[in-house]
Amino acid sequence: MVLQWYPGHMNKAKNQVQERLKVVDIVLEIVDARLPYSSRNPILEQIINQKKHIIILNKADLADPKLTNDWILNYKQEGTASIESDAKHNKLAKLNSLIRSELADKIDKYERNGVKNYQIKAMCVGIPNVGKSTILNKMVGKNVAVTGNKPGVTKNQNWLKTNYGIDLLDTPGILWPKITDPKVGMKLALSGAIKDKIYPPDDVAIFALNFLQTNYLDRIMSVYDLDKSDVNNHTTAELLMNLTKKFGYKEDYDRAARRVIMDVRNLKFGRITFDIPGEFYEE
Ligand code: GDP
Repeated sequence: MVLQWYPGHMNKAKNQVQERLKVVDIVLEIVDARLPYSSRNPILEQIINQKKHIIILNKADLADPKLTNDWILNYKQEGTASIESDAKHNKLAKLNSLIRSELADKIDKYERNGVKNYQIKAMCVGIPNVGKSTILNKMVGKNVAVTGNKPGVTKNQNWLKTNYGIDLLDTPGILWPKITDPKVGMKLALSGAIKDKIYPPDDVAIFALNFLQTNYLDRIMSVYDLDKSDVNNHTTAELLMNLTKKFGYKEDYDRAARRVIMDVRNLKFGRITFDIPGEFYEE
């Protein structure tokens, strides 16, 4: 269980999102493109009902581009539209067309019935840190103080005009990550989605080294200047110990662990995606 979430908070957050869902035409679910599975909360799927829904794979600038494409195809096969985004650096013009194409039936109906000045209403939803506020600000075109960006904060519903003729709820819906699978917890910790103090850094670093050896072996070998014997005949814990010496940190394994984690976050190994489509997660 993630420490900052308690059943009371979760319920409140769920109710708040559910309440707000009633007044929107479309839900923009923001996920971290490095974690298109682990940064989602399955509860949203349950409460979203028949509502139109787009998944925004944000922070795509940090994710493996091939896997981002694979995830977009994967969601499409499941019947959900999705789009990649780098809200920190780019505009969201493609998102506007996607919202309009997802709502084409509704927009057609308005236009057939001669309704002028109709408003499309949308809201952002996602777990903490995926970029909800950044996307909201980008859509609105200026910095608005995203208030109530805490679970369970009740507030009146205010609409923000966006650059795209779409009205956006000023308070994003916040859900919690689901961490029943320890791998999901490790991935959230590694990406910085949850607080560093939740898991011991050596556990997260060992998970990272293992993941890199399995999925990005050439990158870890070149970045840490390893040869085959460094990776073949050792456990990942031994690899961390050897790296500690290599970094000149004597026996400060925690320091080496924190460095490995920061190297992942700072793209030392390039753009990495931690969730692979089709990977089996259920226990
Ligand atoms: P929220 O908790 O979901 O509202 O997340 P924020 O909008 O506060 O973003 C969390 C952090 O991620 C901030 O440091 C943002 O600058 C950063 N961020 C948001 N979107 C992107 C993105 O597309 N790419 C990158 N690299 N960073 C992003």
